Amino acid sequence: MVIIPGLSQPLKAAGKRITSWAEDSGGLTVEANSTVRGATCPGCSQKSSRLHGHYWRAIAESPCFNAPVRLSVEMRRFKCVNRCCRQRTFSERIEPLAVPRQRRTLRLMQGVRALGYALGGQAAARLGAKLGMPVSGPTVLRELRRAGCAPADEVLVVVGIDDWAIARGHRYGTIAVDLERRCPIELLEGRDAASVVPWLEKQPAIEVIARDRAGAYADAARTAAPGAQQVADRWHLMHNMCEAVERMLLRHAGKLREAASQVSEAMQLEAQPPGYKRLAAWWVIRAKREETRRARLERLIATSRARRRIY
Ligand SMILES: [Zn+2]
Repeated sequence: MVIIPGLSQPLKAAGKRITSWAEDSGGLTVEANSTVRGATCPGCSQKSSRLHGHYWRAIAESPCFNAPVRLSVEMRRFKCVNRCCRQRTFSERIEPLAVPRQRRTLRLMQGVRALGYALGGQAAARLGAKLGMPVSGPTVLRELRRAGCAPADEVLVVVGIDDWAIARGHRYGTIAVDLERRCPIELLEGRDAASVVPWLEKQPAIEVIARDRAGAYADAARTAAPGAQQVADRWHLMHNMCEAVERMLLRHAGKLREAASQVSEAMQLEAQPPGYKRLAAWWVIRAKREETRRARLERLIATSRARRRIY
């Protein structure tokens, strides 16, 4: 039996035993057999140990030394022994490890959620790829959505409000997010002050409101929560800064190109082997000498032609 610290225990809890592991450029692959003798039918809740077959399920696990870990887990199918049950066969469950039809373990999804809460979709996907957790941005967002919202009776102290498109260009709503628990708490119809004020008035404990720089939410906050501090949210600050930097770079595009070509020439010169600089300087001197000599010769020829015309 193969034992991998930190992995054998959760696999054992799901009725699996590690049989082999292999390492390649793509990470670590761990194979685990099933030790389950029977399972409960999800249709009629009756236990059955009549084996029908088996298949292999691929699940991604948390990374090991920043390398992705793939689990290849044997899953057993059983026949339902209840004749009245509509479920003829069913597969064993491995809830301690992963939920049904999920291609990632609970532990890996926990890591993905933590990245998503801290960074958002695309940034979490980029960092996840470096940390051995390859996920796409939409997967991160889907997982955050699946994680759900805070209970409605939570006291809200720090909230973020922003608009979102129900039908882009036609109909917009407002989303309110509990920034302490990092989850959405309310969706409101409309994105003007009138649609936000009634909801804000029901939250007397709010102390901080993060919002975009538009006037509607500022008006709503001043009306419904005058004591709350209003701050610009991080996304809009970053977005505005990116736009300002882009405008500045476009304004100075000519000078930037000129500076870049100078730097590039200097770097090319630096990259040359030792002695190249002296050689290059000598070439310049030689070219100047050649030019001077040619000019002197042309002057001489011109002078001699002039004399020939005179005599
Ligand atoms: Zn059944």
